[in-house]
Amino acid sequence: MSADPALDAALARYSRQMLFAPLGEQGQRHLRHARVLLVGCGALGTVLASTLVRAGVGFLRVVDRDFIELDNLQRQVLFDEHDIAANLPKAEAAARKLRRANSAVEVEAVVADAGPHNVAALAEGVDLLLDGTDNFETRFLLNDLAVRDGLPWVYGACIAAEGLVMAVLPGRTPCLRCIWDAPPPAGETPTCDTAGVLAAAVNITASLQALEAIKILSGRTDALHGRMISFDAWLGRFRALDMQPARETGDCRCCVHREFPYLAGDRASRAVLLCGRNAVQVTPPADAAPIELKRVAARLGRDARAVQNEFLLRFAADSFQVTLFADGRAIVKGTADAGVARSVVAKYVGA
Ligand SMILES: [Zn+2]
Repeated sequence: MSADPALDAALARYSRQMLFAPLGEQGQRHLRHARVLLVGCGALGTVLASTLVRAGVGFLRVVDRDFIELDNLQRQVLFDEHDIAANLPKAEAAARKLRRANSAVEVEAVVADAGPHNVAALAEGVDLLLDGTDNFETRFLLNDLAVRDGLPWVYGACIAAEGLVMAVLPGRTPCLRCIWDAPPPAGETPTCDTAGVLAAAVNITASLQALEAIKILSGRTDALHGRMISFDAWLGRFRALDMQPARETGDCRCCVHREFPYLAGDRASRAVLLCGRNAVQVTPPADAAPIELKRVAARLGRDARAVQNEFLLRFAADSFQVTLFADGRAIVKGTADAGVARSVVAKYVGA
């Protein structure tokens, strides 16, 4: 109990968590002031967001580039069929649920693709970065930013029934590039597309990530175990790998030589294949003029069967489905070919 009854009342909802002695009321007070950036709000991201908001962080910024589809509901715990019917982007749908779960937490939704052009701004004023992504490109970007700015981040990856989790405390623990100098070549690693993914394994992965994050945010970095957890939940195999030697004996280009190539990335328009979607995201150049969804919608014919809300415009184009976001990005579904996707966007939205 403190001398401040209002504060006691605000903390009462966390009583079970504060009873856990290593966290305690002291840890809870730290959490209340913690500011977190979550990049990616799909399978891992929804569990991470739910856990941290319910645990009582002060602020969570949720960044996601995508909308919700029916086959997401198997594992993306913050979404439901109503969100799909309402055509809500993941970030917005998540934020609405999170605010209902804990109105004491400030939750900000950002519908955008985190990339070299915006990630530093997205991380402005936060204490920790959380990896809810499904691709190496963004993880190496987060690692660059974290090491450059001395921000802790928590890596997590899950496929099939397997997961990997590691907290990175720049200057103290190995970074991602101490372990892997570069992302694996495209197509060489299994994806949720090819190997599938079990929700139970996702939940374990994200829960282990959230645990390390809560240690850091509650001022208990001394409690970090400093290991990479690797598991196969189907086989019941769990390992805690000591990665410290990778930092001590390595010659990491990121945390030793301070090279940040992923942060320096180009700013041209990009087309990237989305993991497991038969879809391509087309991103306009950073200096492109803003897009007015209404004007694009007005140009479409009746055949386009366009639906629109304040966040996105969705329409049929030839044999494709195009979802255009207010930030100018388009997701073209029905192709895995970047060139085809670009030309569909150029034809219906404008180059
Ligand atoms: Zn390193």
